[in-house]
Amino acid sequence: MQLYTLGGRTGSNAVANHVDSLPTVASSGAAASSGAAASSDSSVSTAAAKILFSPAGEKGSGLSGKVFARFVMPEDWIALASIPGASVASASVQSTASPSAETVFTMRSFGQKVRQWLNGYRLGYWPQEKGRVRSEAYKNPDGFIEVTPDNEDTRVSEHFRLRDFVSHDQKDVWPKYVVLREPLLDKLELVIEDLNDHGVNAEGLRIRSGFRTPAHNFAVRGEGSARDSRHQFGDAADVYIDQEGNGKMSDLNGDGKVSFADVKMILDAVERVEARYPELVGGTGLYAYSGRSGPFAHIDVRGTRARWVRGVYRGRSRRVVRSHKTTPKISKALPASNTVTRSASTTRGRTSATPE
Ligand SMILES: [Zn+2]
Repeated sequence: MQLYTLGGRTGSNAVANHVDSLPTVASSGAAASSGAAASSDSSVSTAAAKILFSPAGEKGSGLSGKVFARFVMPEDWIALASIPGASVASASVQSTASPSAETVFTMRSFGQKVRQWLNGYRLGYWPQEKGRVRSEAYKNPDGFIEVTPDNEDTRVSEHFRLRDFVSHDQKDVWPKYVVLREPLLDKLELVIEDLNDHGVNAEGLRIRSGFRTPAHNFAVRGEGSARDSRHQFGDAADVYIDQEGNGKMSDLNGDGKVSFADVKMILDAVERVEARYPELVGGTGLYAYSGRSGPFAHIDVRGTRARWVRGVYRGRSRRVVRSHKTTPKISKALPASNTVTRSASTTRGRTSATPE
């Protein structure tokens, strides 16, 4: 196990918000997905945190056994550092971790953010800071993972590196900060595994958009897009499967075209994964058409089931339209059979839906 830590200590006010995550680590040695445990107190998430991240062995952690990162708060790190066999490295050390090695990232506390900023990186304001908390899952994240040129290539799970989840704005600003939760990595790995098991080569599953700073989320949001997007909470990713390495969604079902039917295969995998692992339940949205990477699927681990469809795919007899304004409550009404629904307000002609 390799530990990345930051030099600075967090302010006491920030620590006070996270004391409940410490006993989990101290008593069990588990990594405790501190984000899940502290910011999402629903019974599902808390239970999942305890089950999901057992002490690292030869393989990775999580239900998939393919998660190779833990994101912990400074006070958690103190407990982790006392685990026999743990080695400590500073954040400036280039990762030389072997594929099976786990990396522990110590986060900066949410309380270190000053207005919209953290250390010169613009984050913006989370919904809770503006007085909106839909549920426990929408509380402020615990903290931020610092991303530097030295650690951005660190593998966080079998198929992904830290850099895959960085917000797309502020390309030239370093260090950057990311919110990322282990259950998302776990779910993505399980979806890849499920597709592979069902004869769909998903090794090329790519992250189109992972974490989005609230500032960036606000900048890219369009009509009807998600003000409270899960991308701000580090448990959502927009993905596509690129089998040819051309940066676009592939024709997964081999019908000669890249269409909604292909991203629906990702949804089918999510349904199977959630049926098997209810603790990873969350939202899945299908975007039938969007410019540069083609159709894609949004996957998140919000803790409650949500489903939606957006976008128009031209050239098919069945037109796919946006089903509903997306809220968990409404989306839950969508049937598990993934029926494409229509609503009165179509988004015909829209070519670039802003992802949830
Ligand atoms: Zn999304």
